[in-house]
Amino acid sequence: MSKIVDIINKAETTHSLTKEEIVDLLRCDEYDQQLFLAADRVRSQFVGEQVHLRGLIEFSNICLQNCYYCGLRKENAKVKRYKLSPDTIIDFANKAKTYEYKTVVLQSGESQSYTVAEMKYIITSIKALGLAITLSLGEKSREEYQIYKEAGADRYLLRIETTNKKIYEALHPGMSFENRLRCLSDLKDLGYEIGTGCLVGLPNQRMEDLAEDILFFKSIDADMIGLGPFIPNADTPLAQEKGGAFSTSIKVMAITRLLLPDVNIPATTAMETLNKNGRMIALQSGANVVMPNVTEGEYRQMYMLYPGKICINDTPKHCRGCITGKIQGIGRQVSKEFGFRKSKK
Ligand code: SAH
Ligand code: SF4
Repeated sequence: MSKIVDIINKAETTHSLTKEEIVDLLRCDEYDQQLFLAADRVRSQFVGEQVHLRGLIEFSNICLQNCYYCGLRKENAKVKRYKLSPDTIIDFANKAKTYEYKTVVLQSGESQSYTVAEMKYIITSIKALGLAITLSLGEKSREEYQIYKEAGADRYLLRIETTNKKIYEALHPGMSFENRLRCLSDLKDLGYEIGTGCLVGLPNQRMEDLAEDILFFKSIDADMIGLGPFIPNADTPLAQEKGGAFSTSIKVMAITRLLLPDVNIPATTAMETLNKNGRMIALQSGANVVMPNVTEGEYRQMYMLYPGKICINDTPKHCRGCITGKIQGIGRQVSKEFGFRKSKK
């Protein structure tokens, strides 16, 4: 039997691989179908057939950071900036509840556009609706994370983006890899479920780096892993780069499922941007979560991290119906539960 098939079998049974074994898997394409089927079996065995939906509210595109890959970066003067009022955000969350979402994800650029008191008000009010709350606001102080946890936030998404410190620092001017790690460690310590993840296909990123990323997710005991291809944005310094491949992203995700069998893994929007069936392929290769957009009106077009973002002209109601149909179409069901990490709750 081939060495690669042996590695896939080892990952499926022991949920542990060496860096070299992960690199071998990533480099060889011949057994991809076996890899995806193994990840699908592990997903089914550990987290079941239910797909958890998280309603994504993109509440502000104002950002003080300058991440080279991102369309919302401060120096991109082409972006028309917006911030929703606290009551509008709460209203969108209320609407998400009527579409039977159990979780809302509050995502924005990294900024000081809202005071801590305003954020607390938003979190407390949404919590009172009986929804779980995931925050994705970037790097903050431990104190600020603590206040939001005490106000009722349950989870926090902060991708490491890449564990290669050199690449990380080259792409994040004015930011430090150590502070990123500090944030993740504080969030874990404060009792958040933590979500991290990486971009696939960054400039100078090698298969070895992606293998390190996967091992990192395991080493910090992350509860959620969101990853997707880097998609070059014409209004950024990385406009001329090649970007990540759909197939590599799905492989990194499938290996992540094999090594972290009980975590929540979204089928990401960036995957669907590169492949029109991307999220369903992802759900059949290890993923168990989808994050449909519940932002209303013109704001979806203005939250342009990368070009070609899907569903920018759709309504939340349309997206809810569309995704439910697709999920049922592959023989799975939309979960009615909060969808915390299985081993924890
Ligand atoms: N400001 C917050 C949340 C918004 S950005 C933060 O940075 O954490 C959310 C994610 O979008 C980032 O983690 C990044 O991985 C992704 N992203 C940004 N630009 C992208 C691009 N060009 N292609 C693919 N994903 C991108
Ligand atoms: Fe800002 Fe997040 Fe984009 Fe970086 S990735 S520029 S922090 S919105």
